[in-house]
Amino acid sequence: MTTKRDLVTRLDDGGVLCAEGFLFEIERRGYMASGAFVPEVALENPHALRTLHKDFQHAGSDVVQAFTYNGHREKMRVLGKEELLEPLNKAALQIATDVANDVPEGIEPNLVAGNISNTNLWHPDDKNAQKEVRKMFDEMIGWAVDAGVDLIIGETFYYAGEAFAALEAIQQSGLPAVVTISPMGENKMRDDWDVVDTCAELEQRGATVTGMNCFRGPQTMMPYIHEIRKRVKCHVAALPITFRTTPEHPTFFNLPDNNGCTCPAPHGRSFPTALEAMSCNRYEIRAFADEAWALGVNYLGVCCGAVPIYIREVAEAMGRRPPASRYDVDMSRHFIYGSHERLANHITSYGDRA
Ligand SMILES: [Zn+2]
Repeated sequence: MTTKRDLVTRLDDGGVLCAEGFLFEIERRGYMASGAFVPEVALENPHALRTLHKDFQHAGSDVVQAFTYNGHREKMRVLGKEELLEPLNKAALQIATDVANDVPEGIEPNLVAGNISNTNLWHPDDKNAQKEVRKMFDEMIGWAVDAGVDLIIGETFYYAGEAFAALEAIQQSGLPAVVTISPMGENKMRDDWDVVDTCAELEQRGATVTGMNCFRGPQTMMPYIHEIRKRVKCHVAALPITFRTTPEHPTFFNLPDNNGCTCPAPHGRSFPTALEAMSCNRYEIRAFADEAWALGVNYLGVCCGAVPIYIREVAEAMGRRPPASRYDVDMSRHFIYGSHERLANHITSYGDRA
């Protein structure tokens, strides 16, 4: 087995690629209820979670993030399944650890990340709620530490205060902290913090990596990434969703389908089950990754909507050739659009009318 470098060494040496978006992809594979969005897959269908992690690893992810997003006490209470909280967290951590160590010959073992996220309980004026959130963070971080993870990711925070609380909880574990924020459609944090100021404050408080993940596609995340990269000295993260959000609709929550949709989702919005028509293609994800990489943003990934092919694009933008690059597009042998000498002219000349 090749030696395993830690997060900071990898960032200083070049960059880190972290696949996310398990929630959407596991749902699309039929192993999770949309809306409820609780990662019981770790207990009920561990093979499905393992397969997804393996697919992202094949495409170039350096990090296997334990799938505990939404696997926190408050969400489990909403579901009436609080007793599953600890088994779920431990199973997800074990699966992530197993996959991280099970790499192809000659490839460095992946980093394992514990994960905490927006609790939807945080309130800026409610000290009791804040204490409760901190307890939830502490117990999840505790299970991750017991499992021997290499870093903790705190993500998808739309309250600056909750992001700061997450960072403080992670710091107590002594592990590197990746803390990313996710402003809603008002383009500021829900507690009125400016987006870039929030990242600068996270850096000041000692985050190893700060930046943004989720809610926003490339177009509405990138302007902030430019500003954040200018403002902070620490490593910066950028992990957009894969949908074509716009200045009018900066997040996927209120993204309308204006692409000729004939069967709108019954719950009145395209989020979260009818977003397909607004998907970025792989070249848009590649363009995002190229731009971010050129800026010196070197913790990259893709969040909701991520499939392995997008992760491969990001890996290649970072100058890599992951195992999946063996299967890069080769149109030269396509039956209509190819250029191979064996292809019949009466077929290849038909391309524009096909
Ligand atoms: Zn996401």
